[in-house]
Amino acid sequence: MATSAAGNPRLLLRRLRDIMQERTSAQDRLDRLVTLIANNMVAEVCSIYLMRAGGELELFATEGLNKDAVHAARLKKGEGLIGDIALNARPLNLPDAQSHPNFVFLPETGEAPFQSLMGVPILRDGLCLGVVAVQNKTRRLYDEEEVEALQTIAMVLAEMVASGDLIAPTELEETGIRRDRPWRAKGAAIVDGVAIGEVVLHEPRVKVERLIAEDPEAERRRLDTAIAALRSSVDEMVDAEDMDLLGDTKEVLEAYRMFANDSGWLVRLREAIGTGLTAEAAVERVQSETRARLMRHTDPYLRERAHDLDDLANRLLRHIAGLSDTAAGALLPENAVLVARAMGPAELLDYDRARLKAIVLEEGSPTSHVAIVARAIGIPLVGRVEHLLDQVDPGNQIVVDGEIGEVHLRPGPEIVAAYRAKLEVIAQREQEYAALRHEPAVTLDGRSVALNLNAGLAVDLPHLDETGAAGIGLFRTELPFMITTRLPSLRRQTELYARALDAAGERPVVFRTLDLGGDKVLPYMHLDAEENPAMGWRAIRISLDRPALLRYQLRALIAAAAGRTLNVMFPMIAEVAEFVRARALLDRELKRAEKVGQTLPASVRAGTMLEVPSLGYSLPALLAVADFISLGTNDLMQFFFASDRGNPRLGDRYDALSPAFLRFVKSVIDAAAIAGKPVAVCGEMAGRPLEALALVGLGISSLSMQPHGIGPVKQAIRSADSNKLAAFLNQRLDDPGHSLRAALKSFCERQGINLG
Ligand code: PEP
Ligand code: MG
Repeated sequence: MATSAAGNPRLLLRRLRDIMQERTSAQDRLDRLVTLIANNMVAEVCSIYLMRAGGELELFATEGLNKDAVHAARLKKGEGLIGDIALNARPLNLPDAQSHPNFVFLPETGEAPFQSLMGVPILRDGLCLGVVAVQNKTRRLYDEEEVEALQTIAMVLAEMVASGDLIAPTELEETGIRRDRPWRAKGAAIVDGVAIGEVVLHEPRVKVERLIAEDPEAERRRLDTAIAALRSSVDEMVDAEDMDLLGDTKEVLEAYRMFANDSGWLVRLREAIGTGLTAEAAVERVQSETRARLMRHTDPYLRERAHDLDDLANRLLRHIAGLSDTAAGALLPENAVLVARAMGPAELLDYDRARLKAIVLEEGSPTSHVAIVARAIGIPLVGRVEHLLDQVDPGNQIVVDGEIGEVHLRPGPEIVAAYRAKLEVIAQREQEYAALRHEPAVTLDGRSVALNLNAGLAVDLPHLDETGAAGIGLFRTELPFMITTRLPSLRRQTELYARALDAAGERPVVFRTLDLGGDKVLPYMHLDAEENPAMGWRAIRISLDRPALLRYQLRALIAAAAGRTLNVMFPMIAEVAEFVRARALLDRELKRAEKVGQTLPASVRAGTMLEVPSLGYSLPALLAVADFISLGTNDLMQFFFASDRGNPRLGDRYDALSPAFLRFVKSVIDAAAIAGKPVAVCGEMAGRPLEALALVGLGISSLSMQPHGIGPVKQAIRSADSNKLAAFLNQRLDDPGHSLRAALKSFCERQGINLG
């Protein structure tokens, strides 16, 4: 006598597994499966429909309906009751199916006599691969346990479909299991650079191998232990002081906590185990159903929560499997490209940098903490790639173009060839630049230019030797403050600054004091929202209004520079009086250090950024009190042209090589020359060969830039004649045009200057 599935679903599952493992044809196994299911559920009919490429549901096997209809009867998604189940990805349980408004009669199946129907979607990763349904002649409402049992059967079928056992993947509708086509997406170009590599999921997905449990009690215990571990790890994350280091936002973490404590979720997991699944299979089944439900919503908030739940289910699976939370512990492939929804800076630093070639995120912004670290360690990063995790599988080939913010997943051979060629050119150039590492940056007519690094984190320091930089021209001290979640202690600050000085040895390091505010926000410092934060309460304005933080930092700098030269530079100075006040704070800290018997720096130089145009009109007075100036052309351009530096629509609107801007720069250089004080440039333009040549032509002899700028700029300088450049530019500074770029470029070409 057949045992009812509701009575003993585990027995049914075991029989299913036995049939699946037989070595007969897929069709034969399917035919036997439907018979088995029908018998166990005391149904007269059991049918399996699978979604064909093109989106039609095809009858693949049946017990009870007309066998001739197999592979002939078809329904569109949404058509009839079977199509309805597939479209809505939810079960139907109908005692009187024929009275349902969506009922469609398929004459070829001979289903006229059957009154009741219960069908469930065959789901995987929240996508519907088909439908399995049972029917009876009499009116019958299948009970909850029977619906559950059929859902579990559907999950087992989903695994068979996904394994390509029943139908070739190419014949299937393009679903999540057909992630085999090229996929291209545009995101945000966050960190420059190009890579071809292999996808590594930052948070690995657990592949559920064992679906059917031997001992449900043991599975329940496994689930309970994993749930407890999950809850406490989520609580830890929510409460963590280092939350920002993890990369998840408070909102996401709160959603995790809510789901992790949701009793409905737990009940469903336990019920799924009750139907004979292992703990991990139960998680997968419930997750697939929940995801299918949430993804039907058009509300972006709910769809976003579906992702949260995916992440959480994944974490739970990793707890069940006893795996660590990220892929950092595993051996990475040679060309690893990390893919994640979000990532924190500390997590990024856990990876083996030699093997990490790029990062692609669904979230992320240029000022996110992970972006700051990725930039510092020179890893290209593309962010804001929507639907990335739905499309990607570990091991997929991926091309990342951080210059334009594009990714190509499973790219075709022509894309790979094009990027390989690009990488070869880059590699060849790198070799040329490396060969110049120990050569001086001197023009053909003998003018020497100091090429310095912009830095800020400990991970930047090795670039000093790698690039052969002359020193650090801009140490952005706010970066370490931005990637931790509490104020770095005096000791930690001192250590970091001392490390920078140690790494530089004889080479100068210019420490810029905290440039906070604007887009540089600290998680632990509350700043009121401002209408124009770039022009708001930021940088030296905060430091002068609340001097404790600056004094604390100056104290650390003085201690770190004991017995050596200390160069301090103040950001966003708009008038001489601000510089005088800032310098007074430095003097006060020096006096304090002397009083307590500290070893003082051997010499102290105090300078200022020039990034607010007003300061350019106070130069003689400024230069009487400042030891040096550095032009911060990023902000200077933004205020000079009243053009937001972060707005991509304005990115190319004004040019640093415009005659007006160059004239302004020239006036600063001339004033500094008269005062006998050095002037440098540390904005992004300093690291671009053409712009760097223009600056040299105007008389700049110190540039500070990102590490990858040093090679190309040095190559350009070594092939240029500064006198000729000066003559060319000086003649054109009154030009009424938009920019001298094109003219300067053709001048360089004529002169045989190597612009890289
Ligand atoms: C600048 O404004 O040019 C500069 C170097 O500072 P930051 O980019 O850190 O604002
Ligand atoms: Mg600036």
